[in-house]
Amino acid sequence: MSGERIMNEEKSRSLFEASKHLMPGGVNSPVRAYRNVGRIPRFIQKASGSHITDADGNTYIDYVCSWGPAILGHSHPKVVEAVVKAASCGLSFGAPTEAELKLARLVNRFMPNVESLRLVSSGTEAVMSAIRLARGYTGRDKIIKFRGCYHGHSDAMLVKAGSGALTGSAPDSAGVTSGASRDTLVAEYNSIESVKALFEANPHQVAAVIVEPIAANMGVVIPKDEFLDGLRQITSECGALLIFDEVITGFRLSFGGAAEYFGIGPDLVTLGKIIGGGMPMGAYGGRREIMEMVAPSGKVYQAGTLSGNPMATAAGIATLEEILVHREMYSLLDAKGAKIEKALKAKFGDGATVNRAGSLLSVFFAKGPVDSYDSVMRSDLEKFRAFFSHMLDRGIYLPPSQYEAWFVSLAHDDEDIRRTCQAINDF
Ligand SMILES: *Cc1c(COP(=O)(O)O)cnc(C)c1O
Repeated sequence: MSGERIMNEEKSRSLFEASKHLMPGGVNSPVRAYRNVGRIPRFIQKASGSHITDADGNTYIDYVCSWGPAILGHSHPKVVEAVVKAASCGLSFGAPTEAELKLARLVNRFMPNVESLRLVSSGTEAVMSAIRLARGYTGRDKIIKFRGCYHGHSDAMLVKAGSGALTGSAPDSAGVTSGASRDTLVAEYNSIESVKALFEANPHQVAAVIVEPIAANMGVVIPKDEFLDGLRQITSECGALLIFDEVITGFRLSFGGAAEYFGIGPDLVTLGKIIGGGMPMGAYGGRREIMEMVAPSGKVYQAGTLSGNPMATAAGIATLEEILVHREMYSLLDAKGAKIEKALKAKFGDGATVNRAGSLLSVFFAKGPVDSYDSVMRSDLEKFRAFFSHMLDRGIYLPPSQYEAWFVSLAHDDEDIRRTCQAINDF
């Protein structure tokens, strides 16, 4: 094949073999192990802008972008500078700082719905806490989530629809008790009917519906026109809260996230990824009246030794400030995403479906429309594997799973996009 690069992967291979003895699967988060694609995971040494370099010295154009945080590109000078400066003043105090107030003000400016917020250290923690808050606020136990949406790995979110799915679910991981999964109900993404059925079968018991406003953890699935509106309506009618899990979509599609993008006001929002600018951070927030239930104001307990960590807070502030400066940022990102979408469509035609929202996209090797969990599951995984491998060998670092989104950053320049489109075309 023309332009094929022969890559050395010996160092990554030997690091992976050694890691397997000391870490489960050789990694600290499952998708990194490349199990779905049957290749050796790249051990990354450094990253700058749109490029990452592995332990063997190969450099790739990166569309993982740390799974979202690197929206400005890796090692953005202003973000790195802010972190270094913060580090030189102390790594952690366990006491409030002015920087946390600054970040809270920034988030509130981006997302007026977030009248009050709490900083935590991961998206998982943000969701786990928001769910506890929704239960505490409503005095109800049950939560509705959607099949194919990912909300981190807290027990209540690791469930699948089992038998008797209308009134309870089954654990989707060993170690999750049936008690923990019983109170989580599973609906179908883009099906308001499935949500209605759950509300009808569980009257006055549902504390909240949690949804990825654009699903991005089964690959990208766009909400149908009436779906999010329908969720807003039914939750309001039934006295349940609507939680938008914007860990991916927050600051990704517009300044105000999906809530602004679709013009829908959720009661609570969870944030992660971009808000930490590459450092470990998450947040949950929303209507002040609800947030006042959180300790020490209210009776819902939640705490964190490293919450509002100075370096993470500094990275978050620097990232959001940089986004604010780039008024045209989201249209630039959209244009980059559109070019890649066009190349994929030209290459695969009816043989694949491209779902895209701005700089978030997926190519499914399945006939369209791909608008539900079931249609996602019809994808040809063999074809994905072959495509992934081809792109990796051409120096294009894609998410190693059919069910993950590609992330385009501001640092992807015309030459990166051109090389990416060329590699797609050469498959
Ligand atoms: C990544 C993600 C999470 C979990 O965040 P972590 O920081 O990995 O714990 C939660 N929800 C969504 C939508 C995510 O994409």
